[in-house]
Amino acid sequence: MLILIEIQSRKKTRVEHQGFNREHHHHFDKARYVIDSAARVAVVGHLRPDADAIGSITAVVHALRYLGKRARGFIGQAQEIPRNLLTIPGATDIELTAELPPVDLIIVVDCGSLDRTGALADAIAQSSRTLVIDHHASNPGFGTLNIIQPEAESTTVILADLFKTLGVPLDRTLAHCLYAGVLTDTGSFRWGTPQMHLLAAQLMKTGLDTRRIAEELLDGNSVKDLRMMGSVLSGVTLEQIGELGVAYLIADRDTVYGHSSAAVESLADFVRVVDDADIGVVFKETSPGRWAVSLRSSHIDVSRIATQLGGGGHVPAAGYTTSGKTDTIVAELKNVLDDISLEK
Ligand code: 5GP
Ligand code: MN
Repeated sequence: MLILIEIQSRKKTRVEHQGFNREHHHHFDKARYVIDSAARVAVVGHLRPDADAIGSITAVVHALRYLGKRARGFIGQAQEIPRNLLTIPGATDIELTAELPPVDLIIVVDCGSLDRTGALADAIAQSSRTLVIDHHASNPGFGTLNIIQPEAESTTVILADLFKTLGVPLDRTLAHCLYAGVLTDTGSFRWGTPQMHLLAAQLMKTGLDTRRIAEELLDGNSVKDLRMMGSVLSGVTLEQIGELGVAYLIADRDTVYGHSSAAVESLADFVRVVDDADIGVVFKETSPGRWAVSLRSSHIDVSRIATQLGGGGHVPAAGYTTSGKTDTIVAELKNVLDDISLEK
C-alpha cells in the first residue's frame, strides 16, 4: 500500500535543503564552465509546454545571447505553442522540430525526465554535453551536468540565481520570461516560499506590467471558451475511491476541440480544492483517444500517483498521458487510487 506524504512535510525539506546551497553553487560554477566553453547552444524545453517551460527557454536564450553565444530554443513536437504563451518575449522564435542543429552544448530546462523532450530525446541522449536545469524531485539527472533543485518553485527561480553567477544583468525582457514561470508554477503565488515573493519584487522593479502578464497568461478567455468551460464544469463528478474523495472533470475531444489550450488548462484550477475531495482530476482528450491527465491537491502528494501511471510532476500538481475510451481511462486511475491510504 502506498502511503502519501502530506504537503506540510515540504517545510522540512526546505530546511534540509539550506545546507545544500554550497553544493548548488558548486554546480553553478561547473555550469558556468560548460557555458563559457560553448559557442553554439541549443535550449530545449518540454512537450506540451507551460509558461515555466517557455519562460525558461526564452530566458536562457536571451541570457546566452547577452554572453555572446549563438543560442536557439527548441521543443520536440510539431504541435503549435498555445497562443497565450507566445506573449512571453522570444517565444515566437522557439523552433518546433525533431532535429537539433550541430551545437557545442544542449541545455534542457524544466524537463523532469528525458522522454519529456519528445522528438529530441534521442539527440539529447546521444550528446556528450548536456546541462539539465530543473525543479522536478523525480528528475533522475539525465544530463552530463545536472542542476536539480526540487525546492525551487519554478525552473525560472533556479535560472534567476544562475544568471547572477553568470553575470547576466536583469533587464525587463529577462524579468518577463522569469516572472512567467514563477507566476504560473506557484498557482499565482498561492504556494511557495518567502524567497518567491522577494524574487517577484526584484523582477517587478524592472518595470514589468504584472497585471497585463497575468491577463495574457491566465485570465484571457473568449465567450466561446467560457461556454466550453461551463459545459465541462457542469459534468463535475465527486466520488469516494478507497480512502480518497476525488473530484473529476472530463474534457473530451468533442467538447474542447478548437478551444484555446489556456482555457482547457485552466480547468484544473477549479478542481484543486473542492469540498469533500482530496484530489482534483481533469482528463483532457488532446487527440482522438489520447488523454493528458492533470492531478491537483492541496494536501496530498499527487506526483506519486502520476509516477505510478507513467507520468510525473510536483507534490501539488502532476500529470500523465494515457490512451483509451473514457470509461477505461477513468477506471485505470481509480485502480491506482483504490490502493492509496490517506495518512494524516
Ligand atoms: P499539467 O497538469 O499542468 O499538465 O502538469 C502539471 C505537472 O505535471 C507539470 O509540471 C509536469 O511536471 C507534470 N506532468 C504533466 N503531464 C506529464 C506527463 O505526461 N509526464 C510527466 N513525466 N510529467 C507530466
Ligand atoms: Mn516547471
